[in-house]
Amino acid sequence: MFDSHCHLADPAFADDLDAVIDHARAAGVQGVLCILAADDEAEAVQADVVRAAWDGVRFSTGIHPHRAGAWAGRVDDAREVLEAAMASRQAIAVGEIGLDYHYDFSARDVQRDVFAMQVAVASTLDRPVVIHAREAIDDTIAILAAGGPHVRGVMHCFTGTVDEARRALDLDFYISISGIATFPRAAALREVAAFVPADRLLIETDAPYLAPVPYRGQRNEPAWVLETFRMVAAARQVAEDDLGRQLAANTLALLPALGTVAR
Ligand SMILES: [Zn+2]
Ligand SMILES: [Zn+2]
Repeated sequence: MFDSHCHLADPAFADDLDAVIDHARAAGVQGVLCILAADDEAEAVQADVVRAAWDGVRFSTGIHPHRAGAWAGRVDDAREVLEAAMASRQAIAVGEIGLDYHYDFSARDVQRDVFAMQVAVASTLDRPVVIHAREAIDDTIAILAAGGPHVRGVMHCFTGTVDEARRALDLDFYISISGIATFPRAAALREVAAFVPADRLLIETDAPYLAPVPYRGQRNEPAWVLETFRMVAAARQVAEDDLGRQLAANTLALLPALGTVAR
């Protein structure tokens, strides 16, 4: 079992990181993809602590759409920051990157420029992308498609419709389901979780955010990816053993470096 997206270097875990890692291992989580902000040096320092604490961690880094606004008119500088972060954090993926038109913390044209630049960097480095897209599926798909056939990756914390999922699948992207799928009113997302082809499906926590039922409202942690796993198995009406094997294979197909962690 893997958690394909969490923020273990977040200050929320600084005080009890070892316990959080113990919980994850005890729950059968053998590895996680830890997302880092490329433009956050304090988090990079904590990432070294995370790296030392658990061999099961691999890193992804990128400039989040919420922070893109800081790079208005300086996309070349943002590229340098991203490239340096990819190297210094030994990142195996670029992300999370994308577009967020729900919060609109950054001007949309700046979000698009910074996102497109990062897709190009991922292409050059031959790394997958981890996509954050909120109320922005049209522009997200357009920018990914414009990146060329080598662009590959995952739509993280997918909350769109079946039709929107289909468009991401048309680009050969993976769809990652978060703990939102356990929320009582998330029937539409469970429908998506049942719809996605078995070989395109991933699961994640997005910890410390989005704790699943029955932990809703608490700080989320990678161990609780199990709750989402069980809900997805139920939604798809498949045996948990089979789903577990499939999800592990999918994670390793997208992120082979997670296969090198000690068991
Ligand atoms: Zn996100
Ligand atoms: Zn995230």
